[in-house]
Amino acid sequence: MATAPGASQKPATADTGFIFSMPERDHPLTSDVAFLRVLSWYLPKDILAAVTPELARIAEEAASDPVKRWTCDAEVRQPYVKTHNVWGARYDVDNLVTSDGWKNLRSWGAHNGIVAIAYEPQYGQYRRIVQHAKNYFFGPSSALTGCPLSMTDGAAKLLAEVLPTLPPSHPFHEVYRRLTSRTDNWTSGQWMTERAGGSDVQNTETWATYAPLSQKTGGHGRLDEGDYLVSGFKFFSSATDADIAVLLAKTESGKLSAFLAPLTKQITDADGKVRIVSNGIRIHRLKNKLGTKQLPTAELELKDVRAHLVGPLDRGVKTISHILNVTRAHAFMGSVAGWRRCLSIAKAFARARSTWGVPLWKLPLHLRTLADMELKTRASLHLAFFTVSLMSFTENGFPPEVGSGTHAAIPKEGAEARVVLRALTATSKAVIAKSTSSGIQECMEAMGGVGYMDEPDEPENLARAFRDSNVNTIWEGTTNVLSSEVVRNLVKDDNLEIFSNWLNRAIAGLTNKDYRETLSDAWQNLFRKLEGGKGNFIDLLGDGRRIMFSLAWVVMALLLAADAQRDGEAVADEMARRWILNGEGGVGEWLLPNIGGSNAKARFQEGDERVRWDARLVWGNTLPEAPQAIRTGQPKI
Ligand SMILES: Cc1cc2nc3c(=O)[nH]c(=O)nc-3n(C[C@H](O)[C@H](O)[C@H](O)COP(=O)(O)OP(=O)(O)OC[C@H]3O[C@@H](n4cnc5c(N)ncnc54)[C@H](O)[C@@H]3O)c2cc1C
Repeated sequence: MATAPGASQKPATADTGFIFSMPERDHPLTSDVAFLRVLSWYLPKDILAAVTPELARIAEEAASDPVKRWTCDAEVRQPYVKTHNVWGARYDVDNLVTSDGWKNLRSWGAHNGIVAIAYEPQYGQYRRIVQHAKNYFFGPSSALTGCPLSMTDGAAKLLAEVLPTLPPSHPFHEVYRRLTSRTDNWTSGQWMTERAGGSDVQNTETWATYAPLSQKTGGHGRLDEGDYLVSGFKFFSSATDADIAVLLAKTESGKLSAFLAPLTKQITDADGKVRIVSNGIRIHRLKNKLGTKQLPTAELELKDVRAHLVGPLDRGVKTISHILNVTRAHAFMGSVAGWRRCLSIAKAFARARSTWGVPLWKLPLHLRTLADMELKTRASLHLAFFTVSLMSFTENGFPPEVGSGTHAAIPKEGAEARVVLRALTATSKAVIAKSTSSGIQECMEAMGGVGYMDEPDEPENLARAFRDSNVNTIWEGTTNVLSSEVVRNLVKDDNLEIFSNWLNRAIAGLTNKDYRETLSDAWQNLFRKLEGGKGNFIDLLGDGRRIMFSLAWVVMALLLAADAQRDGEAVADEMARRWILNGEGGVGEWLLPNIGGSNAKARFQEGDERVRWDARLVWGNTLPEAPQAIRTGQPKI
């Protein structure tokens, strides 16, 4: 009977006998064909050439021993809070203790421009694409430090919107500089969720009173000399070690406004000594969570926190939406990046592991499972980069080449781009995060029992990735909240018509008749559902999740097909064909019945040919020999 390579005929002991050795993964950048392909679509040649060495560096750093050690350290030495000294005196500022690994990873991200690139002129209109190309390698190694950095990015975006209306002496200018710095950078928290609700922030029990200081430093006061005093209780704060926070509170109008507050303030004692103390913020406790244990998520009590109003009074929800779009992009990019990292680990395992004498990588069913994941992650990758491209152009201007050849699917500048971006930001966050949860579970399973092991000091711990990734389905809007948002917004005003004009035009640009007709039919079905539902909004909202997932399926299909059309590359075309015609890959069970299934044009290859295609999808080449199936000796379980 076949034994595993290296297995001994002698009885094993704790230290002798077969011990599996996990092979090195291939180079994280050069081996990631799907990522390189997507990037070559969205970035012009000169920017791609300039950014590739930077990407190679961060990809290699992410796989390096120091970064792996920091990642483990952040998990092993979880954050804790010390509020009192040994004599029982309360500290001036609650002492949130985080590990060196956590701090180093946060600096590593900031230094690499995970926030800054979006605000630096270097990459022009393409800056968010470059930012997220780096984030793709940073995120899965970041031990959740990507979370505070994403909120920092959101706060910077918000300030970028309001700064032009503020005089140069206003303290927000310095805040913006620090948030977007790569060296002396600050981070920002975002405090919205309360016990009364996170999805519906109207129930906020935090109140802000207008109480300007009689004397201020300079015309607008220092950052800790804001005009409002804010009190209340925030139920979830993830960036608890941040320097500033953007928070929601009600004013005497009973409406929500957004405020910006530093976490500490400067006071002068009766004896004239200057001290830094808490700005009225007390850490009530740190939360126990399924995952994201590296991240100090706290409950905070606020008592007379001195804060500045940010954005217009009574328009807090609208103001905070600037932040949400940015943080949602980090959430979906982090999700797909984590999923692809786990898939690459599962693939490295499949190369080395044998079962029943057959290498896993050649086993038809294992191969097909991996091929299915390649297809799913590639579709998510397309949706993610398409959405951040649109975000980048909407923020920084549309490059002249957009709208021609390579960017044929990008909507027109103006209302069309805004409507499509709004729908796709929420859709990408919800659908990619949801698909990633089940996708990482599949990667864990692909590694057998070891995939389920949760050793905190193992750097490539899929169980941790699984626990951590789940949160992306909840924060920044749950799947259902985002579905409702997508549906409500699409049927508002003439948004559906605008969205449909874009999608019809993009689908009409596909040269493959089968793809074009299948997608056109799918979109017409979905369009009719949305259009017809305008008269029965309750039913439309009830079907919101199916509608959003169906929308994602159509857009992902469009992108897979348009990508294949660029150069007719065989694997890209096979991906598009499987997705569009065969109903393979897909986005889970949440689809309308007339969308996304295999149809009359489906063409399943037979037998060995199909397995050889699976191998091309997974490994980039055909199997060197016939696929191997286990035909004999398999026990019945
Ligand atoms: C680890 C972690 C860290 C977090 N960090 C932060 C942070 O830093 N700052 C912050 O502000 N928040 C943070 N959150 C909170 C998070 O954003 C909220 O938990 C989330 O928005 C959901 O709000 P909720 O918990 O109040 O649930 P609820 O709003 O009570 O939702 C409960 C259920 O109702 C559903 N639901 C609600 N409204 C609708 C609707 N209109 N249509 C359909 N279904 C609906 C939801 O989908 C959900 O399934 C964090 C959460 C976690 C888990």
